[in-house]
Amino acid sequence: MTAQPQPIDLPAVKDAVEEITKEMFACSDRGEATKRIGPLSEVDTRQFGIAILTREGDLVCGGDADTPFSIQSISKVFSLELALERYGEKLWDRCGRDPSGDPFNSIIDLERHKGHPRNPFVNAGALVVIDALLDALSADEEVQAVIDFVARLLDGEAFSLNEEIAEADRTGSHLNRALLSLAKHFGNVNNAIADVLRAYVRQCAIELSCRQLARVGRFLMLEGPDDRACPREDAARRARRILALMMTSGQYDGAGEFAYRVGLPAKSGIGGGILAIAPNTASIAVWSPGLDESGNSLLGTRALEMLTDRLDWSSFGRVRTR
Ligand code: GLN
Repeated sequence: MTAQPQPIDLPAVKDAVEEITKEMFACSDRGEATKRIGPLSEVDTRQFGIAILTREGDLVCGGDADTPFSIQSISKVFSLELALERYGEKLWDRCGRDPSGDPFNSIIDLERHKGHPRNPFVNAGALVVIDALLDALSADEEVQAVIDFVARLLDGEAFSLNEEIAEADRTGSHLNRALLSLAKHFGNVNNAIADVLRAYVRQCAIELSCRQLARVGRFLMLEGPDDRACPREDAARRARRILALMMTSGQYDGAGEFAYRVGLPAKSGIGGGILAIAPNTASIAVWSPGLDESGNSLLGTRALEMLTDRLDWSSFGRVRTR
């Protein structure tokens, strides 16, 4: 992988966004919205949004970039950042860092590994990360910490948390409850299952637009338009490690396919959003509610594939000479 900053050709970024947006709206195969959470199953799959924040601070948007959507599992990146900031490497006593090859909510591997989740992005891992935060914070404080983190990166711009979606997620969370019970059985959950679950579904229910999500993602860019995106060395090192986990596990059992096609570290959510980072170059948010069989946005992935090809932004190096 190259860590070389690449020159950003803003007119080319604008052309690519315009063309991709047009193409995505014209697609007839759009995938299906998740059935897992009632209100999300009704979201119109004709929507598509994209926003790119460059390291120079330019923001290029297309389509429904200002429509807020449910960030769902993208929030796992934010709670992981908070837990790593608090506990450092000790966090990994409780969670692995390897791809699972299983769906996001699979329970099979958790028994095999005696309650030790494969990585922090499958549900089992995200729940254990939140449990670690709840060793120090109440469930409400944990959610507030995630909200404060997002608000800081948005310079205080308003966004919401959809309580109806959180409640629908919570009541339908039989598998998440089972994951927590199994991990607790093996001594890897310290807090009450109901508290961990409540914090989890509420942070998942945060709603952001693509324009906002791209701005929040700048803490992972390594270089960027302000000092929150050019963090001190320890924060930058943490960002680099989170990017490695996003590359290997950010799309669950679809991570290998995604790396092959897109070549960027990214995290998806079943609301249809994807946050992708071109290291040292850009923070990219895409959203389209229709999902593929791994629960990742079908058109979001296709749009990112077109984008990295057009702009030559793969983490695995450039193919064009300039
Ligand atoms: N809250 C959702 C769940 O646990 C998040 C899943 C996702 O976005 N992949 O089912």
